[in-house]
Amino acid sequence: MKAASFAYERPPDFKAALALMTKVEGSSKIIAGGQSLGPMLNLRLVEPNLIIDIAGLSELKQAERSGDELVIGACITHGDIEDGRIPDVTRGAMQRVAGAIAYRAVRNRGTIGGSLCTRRDRRSRPRSRHGAVGTLGLCQGLPQAG
Ligand SMILES: Cc1cc2nc3c(=O)[nH]c(=O)nc-3n(C[C@H](O)[C@H](O)[C@H](O)COP(=O)(O)OP(=O)(O)OC[C@H]3O[C@@H](n4cnc5c(N)ncnc54)[C@H](O)[C@@H]3O)c2cc1C
Repeated sequence: MKAASFAYERPPDFKAALALMTKVEGSSKIIAGGQSLGPMLNLRLVEPNLIIDIAGLSELKQAERSGDELVIGACITHGDIEDGRIPDVTRGAMQRVAGAIAYRAVRNRGTIGGSLCTRRDRRSRPRSRHGAVGTLGLCQGLPQAG
């Protein structure tokens, strides 16, 4: 099966993404890495009118360390953590955990935000391997319309 037809937008910045979400008629879905949403679309478990692609938003790719806290942007990928592209407050634990998720192609695209929000979609408690170090990071998510 293939996805039902939908409109697609790639906003240039975070503000434009929020504006799109408030203006949309019908339902919308954010797509980040597409690792979970792609199959859900193909199986027609979700049929949004509009897909808003946030993967290119630089505001969501920031990771900032403040003391022993780390704030991780929603579009940081598992691969970013595995490769040490963000600060570490865990003396290597985060890298090891990230590197154990799925396989490299998934880690290249799959994001922290998508991972947490997929758990929300399934209405279950976060159980991802990142969940084990979840208290060390915050995810800046976007509200969903529809
Ligand atoms: C084969 C395979 C094996 C996997 N194994 C593991 C594993 O061992 N451990 C693990 O933790 N994960 C695993 N995953 C999941 C992986 O971690 C993905 O990162 C995750 O499924 C979704 O991330 P994504 O960026 O691709 O999200 P997407 O597929 O783009 O989106 C998923 C959902 O989150 C919503 N969303 C995405 N970003 C945001 C945001 N910023 N704000 C609000 N809503 C948002 C979307 O609308 C959608 O509903 C696996 C996935 C696959 C395909």
